[in-house]
Formats: sequence, C-alpha cells, structure tokens
Amino acid sequence: MEHTHQQEERLKGKVAVITGGARGIGATTAKLFALNGAQVIIADILDEQGLGLADAIGGRYIHCDVSRESDVEAAVDLAMTWQGQLDIIFNNAGIGGPAGSITNLDMSKMRGLLAVNLDGIVHGIKHAARAMVARGRGGSILCTTSTAATLGGLGSHAYTMSKAAVLGLARSTALELGQHGIRVNCISPHGVPSEMLATGYREALGNPEIGIKEVSQIISERGNLILGRTATMDDVAQAALFLASDDSGFITAHNLVVDGGFTSAHCALSSIHQ
Ligand code: NAD
Repeated sequence: MEHTHQQEERLKGKVAVITGGARGIGATTAKLFALNGAQVIIADILDEQGLGLADAIGGRYIHCDVSRESDVEAAVDLAMTWQGQLDIIFNNAGIGGPAGSITNLDMSKMRGLLAVNLDGIVHGIKHAARAMVARGRGGSILCTTSTAATLGGLGSHAYTMSKAAVLGLARSTALELGQHGIRVNCISPHGVPSEMLATGYREALGNPEIGIKEVSQIISERGNLILGRTATMDDVAQAALFLASDDSGFITAHNLVVDGGFTSAHCALSSIHQ
C-alpha cells in the first residue's frame, strides 16, 4: 500500500482533520496524508482504532460523533490549538442503510442516517470554513459522497438521498467559499470492500458470514470498465490527496468519481465492441 513515489510530501506544512478516519477509506487516507507531510487529526467514534492509528502516524485523535455539532467544532478547534491552523477537512464519516422498500421506510432510522451522512457534513463544512475564513489562507474541503448519488439503486433510499444532497451542498458552499480561496470538492467512491459494505451485504442478503473478503468477491462480479480490477481504499485516498493538495488549486465544486467507469457505461454491453 505504501507509495514510495509519494515521499515528495505534497501536503507539507498542512493540517488536516479526517472524520471517519479510524478505519476504512478514512484510515488509508490518514496514512497517505501523513506520509505526504500533513499533520493529521483523526475524528471518529472508534476510540481504540483511532488512537492507535493517530499514534502510528504522529497525529492526534479526538472522539467525534459527526452528528453532534459540538463534537465537530471541537475537532476543528483541536487543529487550531495543536497547530494554529486548519488547511484540509475530509468529511468522510458515513453509514449505510436502512435497506427496504420506500413503502415501509422507518422514518426514525432515516433521520438517524441523515444525522450522520448529511448533518455530519454540514457540521464539517461549517466549522472548517469558519476556521479557514478567519485565517485568510484558503483551504480544501472534501466530502465523501458515493456513486449512489449519481445512479439509483446502489444504496438504500436514505443513503442515496444523503449522498445526492451532499453534492448540492458542496456546489453551493463552493460558490460562497471560493471568495475566500477555499475549495469544496466531493469524491464518489464505488465498491471499495470495507466494513460498511460488509454490514450492508450481511443485512441485505441475510448472511452473517459476509466479511470484507466476501464483499470483494461480490463486487468483482458486478464489473467495471477496467479489466481484472476492483476499487481499493488507496484508489480513493489518492483522489483525496490530489484534491487536498495544491496540485488541484483550480478545481472546486467538482465531484471526482472513483468508480472504474461504472456509472459512465453499461458494463454488460461491452461485448458490442468485440
Ligand atoms: P467504514 O465503515 O470502514 O468507515 C466509516 C468510518 O466512519 C468508520 O471509521 C466509522 O467509525 C466512522 N463513523 C461512522 N459513524 C460516525 C459518526 N457518527 N461520527 C464519526 N465517525 C463515524 O466504511 P468506508 O467504506 O471506509 O466508508 C467511508 C465513507 O465512504 C463513507 O462516507 C461511505 O458512505 C463512503 N463510501 C464508501 C464506499 C465503498 O464502496 N466502501 C462507496 C461509496 C461511498
């Protein structure tokens, strides 16, 4: 997973908060950001994993439930007290579910999902922007959305709605914050074998045995446009590194889709070109 060519430290001197950074895509990104010279704060609810990772990368951990505004505010404030600045926030914490028909959607479960996947992102943009605007040196705000925001049927109704809403919020805030040199972008991963997907498949297929390995198998059968390959956490982390760094200085209000082309062509029709 380590990329020696990344030793050039593309985030040198920058301070980043990563929500949902204790495991999965967020954890892989935290390692890559640190490898590239960033000071990283991991904000999550998985204290043991978050603390362990923060120690390993010379960063900090803060218990932060993104659905609680005061927790997110505290994560941003930690960046200020620890390093006196915040350059990057990766609003990546997210949950899946609840599965099932719209005709019996459990409204309290839906609101529970929106509290994390939508309110959590609003909190992150709001408080990061507050700190970045006050400092007057710009910044990069990233939000993890999903291909489910682009194509129906890839997630539950509530999940799909939450991710599509984040795309709108990113465009809207990019307009306002661009006046302060702050960029707001989204990353839409697709089919990255992770605990979140394993939980989703366990519930949808009623099979408690499904883990990350089984998820990889299921995903590889669904296809993408790139032969012999499915998504990895590092694919998403590399996209986040690009959008976080000054290399993407003229890119804002963008949705960087990391899906091997899945949402751009009907994989099953590729035989037409043979
Ligand atoms: P994951 O479950 O491994 O990671 C999610 C992280 O968010 C965990 O560390 C979890 O503890 C944290 N989290 C959950 N609720 C939280 C809360 N209330 N406050 C703070 N942290 C919280 O799964 P992942 O696949 O790495 O997911 C990361 C992001 O990527 C999510 O936003 C997810 O929707 C998105 N995503 C994933 C895929 C995929 O294929 N895995 C595809 C599209 C989008």
